[in-house]
Amino acid sequence: MQPTNIHIKDRWPADDAARQQYSLRKFGSQFCDLDVDFYNTQQPRLATQIVSSCLLHHDQPIAESEVCTWSLKKRLQALLAVTTKTRDEEMLLQVRCPQNRCGEEVELALGLNRFKQDTEDEQFTFNIGNRMITARLPNGIDQQQWMQSQTQSTTDLAKRLIMRVGDAQPRAEWQFPEEWLPVFSKVLEQQDELMTMQISSNCPACDAALEIAVDLEAQLLSILSHTQRNLLREVHRIALVYHWSEREIVELGASRRSFYLQQLSQLAEGALLQ
Ligand SMILES: [Zn+2]
Repeated sequence: MQPTNIHIKDRWPADDAARQQYSLRKFGSQFCDLDVDFYNTQQPRLATQIVSSCLLHHDQPIAESEVCTWSLKKRLQALLAVTTKTRDEEMLLQVRCPQNRCGEEVELALGLNRFKQDTEDEQFTFNIGNRMITARLPNGIDQQQWMQSQTQSTTDLAKRLIMRVGDAQPRAEWQFPEEWLPVFSKVLEQQDELMTMQISSNCPACDAALEIAVDLEAQLLSILSHTQRNLLREVHRIALVYHWSEREIVELGASRRSFYLQQLSQLAEGALLQ
């Protein structure tokens, strides 16, 4: 029997044909993970920061500036890989049934693996009339531009993504035709359906149909934020008794922390029995 190759499991993307593979580390396994400020950092920056620090190339974190050049689709898949490596669990969606007389609080558990997608194709083509257009998926730099510039119109933003019209690269003065926008945004949605994901389900109390818009990136960041909170709680409980520094406690690693926490629980139980 072949031994299981652990390295393959720890690589992202797992696909052997991937152009570039990274090794993954768990979020919360290094002291720097406590510096991630989930409450005062914009979502795209958080995703970039965590991906660049938890995906390793030759054992080194990747530069944030490199992650910014990745498509948002690839960044989301990388964040998904880090999250499943960190906590292989389900994501819980909470929603209130919209039926007036019901209002049931519904909790849906979704396995994270169902959101895994291929990220190799960054370019795609579509037709407008008899012209074939080649475009690319938006990346982190595009996203920064959109967030910063109120002056750019939607057509200016769309123009950034167009690589070729027919066989030719568009000239600098070329304007993205406004009438192309509906088709273009539909094609973009199809290329990256997780960006505008809707989950359909039924209310367990009244059976009404539920349509839930899911921001997968926000959900993953929320799971990682819980991981950080739990780690801080462990640091707190150990520091209270042993007086070790934050860094020393994080660097103990999860299994040794759990050993000390177990000792502390046993001590507490012993004290209660006396
Ligand atoms: Zn209901």
